Amino acid sequence: MRPSRRHSYLSRFFLFGLVLSLTLLGAKLRHYDALTIFWPAEAVLLGLFIRRPDWAHSPSSWLVVILGYLCAELTGDTPLAIALLLTLANVSGVGLAFWLITRNPRLDLSLRRPQALLSLAACYSLACLLSALLGGIALYLHTSQDLSLAILSWMLTGLISYTAILPVILTAPARPWRRFQEYWNEPHLLSLAQLAPALALLLTSLLSLLIEGPGSLAFPVLPLLWCALSYSLFTSTLLTLFYVLWTLFALSQPMYFLPSQLNTSLDLLSMRIGIASIALASITGASLMSARNLAVEKLQRLAHHDALTGLLNKQAFFQQGQTVLTQCRLKHMSISVIVLDIDHFKPINDTHGHHVGDLALSAITQRISLALRDSDLFGRLGGEEFGILLPDCSATQAHAVAERVRKSIARLPFALDNDQQLTMTASLGVATLESSTLDLHALLRQADTALYEAKRAGRDQSFSYHYPKAKTGT
Ligand code: GH3
Ligand code: MG
Ligand code: MG
Repeated sequence: MRPSRRHSYLSRFFLFGLVLSLTLLGAKLRHYDALTIFWPAEAVLLGLFIRRPDWAHSPSSWLVVILGYLCAELTGDTPLAIALLLTLANVSGVGLAFWLITRNPRLDLSLRRPQALLSLAACYSLACLLSALLGGIALYLHTSQDLSLAILSWMLTGLISYTAILPVILTAPARPWRRFQEYWNEPHLLSLAQLAPALALLLTSLLSLLIEGPGSLAFPVLPLLWCALSYSLFTSTLLTLFYVLWTLFALSQPMYFLPSQLNTSLDLLSMRIGIASIALASITGASLMSARNLAVEKLQRLAHHDALTGLLNKQAFFQQGQTVLTQCRLKHMSISVIVLDIDHFKPINDTHGHHVGDLALSAITQRISLALRDSDLFGRLGGEEFGILLPDCSATQAHAVAERVRKSIARLPFALDNDQQLTMTASLGVATLESSTLDLHALLRQADTALYEAKRAGRDQSFSYHYPKAKTGT
């Protein structure tokens, strides 16, 4: 059997098993008025379909999902017609939610935008409504419970499950087992400060079990917000799921001291709305925080890097370079710098246009990067002039690096994105730190002097400040 075909059979078998086991689990949790306290099947299924659209777009996936639901419903004493209606209710909900969510291409499904969560909630609320209308009728026919209560109860159970589960699946890292493996290979203990928000959540959740009254539902709100501010979006969604499961579990326990006047169906439904709202608020907070962190990262990157080449900009090169230079000096290590200037770059702009000039600058920096070590600092000092700081590198070694870079530029023409080819050369000046060198500025001035000599000597050359006669260009 071909691997892709075997893979496809396995995934269908997995879907069938998943729907069957989650539906049976939901039925096991059935608590009051024939409706469960938690019904995870649709939310997990929708999350999987969003993460693996290829599964959702295959009719055979839907077929095995329908079979999974039917098998689960028929294991009890449910008549076939009712089982079919219940299956239709569940599958149509997932189908409608998937259709609504995927027809909006601008919806950020990684939830890094807080508005995305609200749009997502609107989509699955409509799906819950459709599912609840069909499911409510099925329950009314089967158990003859109050129709409006059955619909409302179904709807809220769906809402709570989607709100708690879907964000976990959507924000889960792509290969969680890799992360786990990395952690396993290099385990590190979490500090008390890192654990504090999660511990506070645990503590307030326990307190909510011990202290009487509906207000105890909101005890974990502050710790949830603290978690949202402190942890990654995925971890926050996991902790929110914990809060929802814990609170629903607590509600179903006799030791949870609900005041007697609260113990009516509508009051319990109102509590579910409260739990879902708290969960939604907590995930919105985490999503906001994640969007803020991304924006800060982006701003920091913009502040330190050159937009065209992605290299360190002049200011960041000087700042980071000076730190590296000081460290090398303290450790009595040699350190060298190269200043590189592209030869006759102006004619490239004049002949081919500024856009081609930009492409050439990107291409040349990529090629230079390949000739450097990870520990070297590479920055754009201005127009077509670049600085390379080489820690732990003597004058002779630095000259060899400069030659390697120079040859790598001159050896082959550059294929630009627009199918054009350009031949370029560069001149390089090298300087190495001595005890008398004041700072990075002084070192760069020496490299600049060597560069000037290289230009004067005819370009496509590397010159070292301390050995200006040692021309090695060809
Ligand atoms: P030399 O061999 O003496 O270095 O000659 P050159 O033409 O390279 O030197 P010159 O300093 O006269 O010209 C540098 C040119 O680089 C001028 C400017 O238009 C161009 N330049 C600077 N920054 C950019 C940029 O970001 N994009 C593009 N396309 N061109 C740039
Ligand atoms: Mg130039
Ligand atoms: Mg220049």
